[in-house]
Amino acid sequence: MASIRELHHQLVNKERSAVEIAQEALDRIQAVEPKLHSFLCITSERALAQAKQVDDKIAAGEEIGLLAGIPIGIKDNLCTQGIPTTCASKILENFVPPYESTVTQRLNEAGAVMVGKTNLDEFAMGGSTENSAFGLTANPWDLERVPGGSSGGSAAAVAAEECTVALGSDTGGSIRQPAALCGVVGMKPTYGLVSRYGLVAFASSLDQIGPFGRSVEDAAILLEAIAGHDPKDSTSLKVEIPKYTDYLKPIGKGKRKFRIGIIKETFGEGLDPTVEKAVMAAVDQFKDLGAEIQEISCPQFRYGVPTYYIIAPSEASANLARYDGVKYGFRTEKSDNLMAMYTRTRAEGFGPEVKRRIMIGTYALSAGYYDAYYLKAQKVRTLIKQDFEQAFGKVDVLVCPTSPTTAFKAGDKTNDPLSMYLLDLMTIPVNLAGLPGLSLPCGFDEQGLPIGLQIIGNVLREDLVLQAAYSYEQATEWHKQHPKL
Ligand code: GLN
Repeated sequence: MASIRELHHQLVNKERSAVEIAQEALDRIQAVEPKLHSFLCITSERALAQAKQVDDKIAAGEEIGLLAGIPIGIKDNLCTQGIPTTCASKILENFVPPYESTVTQRLNEAGAVMVGKTNLDEFAMGGSTENSAFGLTANPWDLERVPGGSSGGSAAAVAAEECTVALGSDTGGSIRQPAALCGVVGMKPTYGLVSRYGLVAFASSLDQIGPFGRSVEDAAILLEAIAGHDPKDSTSLKVEIPKYTDYLKPIGKGKRKFRIGIIKETFGEGLDPTVEKAVMAAVDQFKDLGAEIQEISCPQFRYGVPTYYIIAPSEASANLARYDGVKYGFRTEKSDNLMAMYTRTRAEGFGPEVKRRIMIGTYALSAGYYDAYYLKAQKVRTLIKQDFEQAFGKVDVLVCPTSPTTAFKAGDKTNDPLSMYLLDLMTIPVNLAGLPGLSLPCGFDEQGLPIGLQIIGNVLREDLVLQAAYSYEQATEWHKQHPKL
C-alpha cells in the first residue's frame, strides 16, 4: 500500500478516487481480519461516505489536504460520536459516545477516512493486547505471537496494510512498544501537545495520543494534523505547532554536529542480545550519517517501572471510579440494592488486569500508605525527569531499544504480570518525564521478527526526534519489508 503522499498524488491527479482507495482498504481488512483481529468494529459504510465527500470536493475543483481520503484506524479508547467506543471492556460494551474526541474531529475535518476502531488491552492496561475482553490480536509477522500493546490493534492494522495510518494512546509505552513488535513507526508526543478530550482516561498525568505509520513521514503528517491547543483539555499546551514535515531532512546537513546520546542503563541484563546488536548497528549508522555519539548515564532510569506501577494504577483507580453502572454502559442484572448494584457491576464488567490495578491504586492512595507509596513515587518521578534534563544539556536526542525483546508467543506471559510490566522498562521513563519518544524499525531477529529503535527528545523537540528518525530511515531498508500474510 502506498504512502500518504503517494495516495494524495493519485487523488489530485485523478488516477484513483477516494472511494476506490477506501474500498481497497476495506477489502484488505475483510481478507486478513479472520487471521489478525486488529479491529473491534469496522465502519465500512461511514468510510465510503467519507471517501465520497472527498471525491465530491476533488470533482468540484476544491483543494484537498494531505490526509483527505487516507484510510485510518482509530484505537477504540477514543470517543467517536455514534460509533461504539468500548475500550475493549465489557463495562463499555454497549457505550456509544454522544460526542467526538478532538483528535478524530480534526481528522474528520481533514477528510481522513476512518475504516474502524482498533483492538487494545482493556482500558489500555497491558503490553500484548491479550487483556482485551473481545479476543486477541495476532502479530502480522507471526500469527502465534502478540502484536504488543496496549495499542496492538492499531500497530497490527498498519503493519498488515489494513489502513495507511492509525492513532494510538501511550501511557507507559503503548504506542512505541507495539510499533516495535509490529515493525512500524509509532510516536508518543510531548505531554500536552495533543488534546486528550474524548480519550477515555487511564492515567491522566501520563496519557498521550499519537500516530502510527509505515514511514516517519506518514507519522509526521498525522502528528501535524492532531497536535495543537484545545480549550477542551486543560492540560493542552498553548504552543505554536511547527510544520513537522519541514524537519524531515538529513542530520548531516546542519551547521553543527547532531548530538546523539546512548542511554547506558538500557543495555545489560534482560536485553535480548539480537536487539542489542541491532540497536548498536543503528548507532554506527548514525555515526556514518555524521552524528556525534556520546554515552549518557540516566541512573534513575531503572526506577521507572516501580514508580509507574504506583502512579498509573493510583490515577486509574480514581479515573475508573466513574464506571458504576449508573452513568455509562454495562449494569448488572443480579442485584437488589444500590450497593450490590455498584459492586456487582464492577465485578462483572472489569477484567482481571483492570481489577488488579484498581486494587493496587486504591491501596497506594489510602490513608497511611499515601506518603510511603504515592508521594515517594512522585519524588522519584522528579529524579527521573532531572536525569533527562541533564542529558539534554549534552545531546539533541537519546537512543535506546524500544523493547528488550521481540514479539513473544500469546499466552507466554499471561500468568506472570510482573514479567509483562518489565517489558516497558525503556518506554515508561519517557512518559514519567512527559517527553516525546518514537520507535522505528531497526532490524529483524533470527526468526524474522522486527526490532524497534527508540529515539527520545527533550520537551517539544519532536522536530529533532523526527529528523533523526527520518535520516536513519532513509539510510536503511528495514521499513521496506512487510509481513507476508
Ligand atoms: N504496558 C503498560 C501498562 O500496562 C503501558 C500501557 C499504556 O501505555 N497504555 O500500563
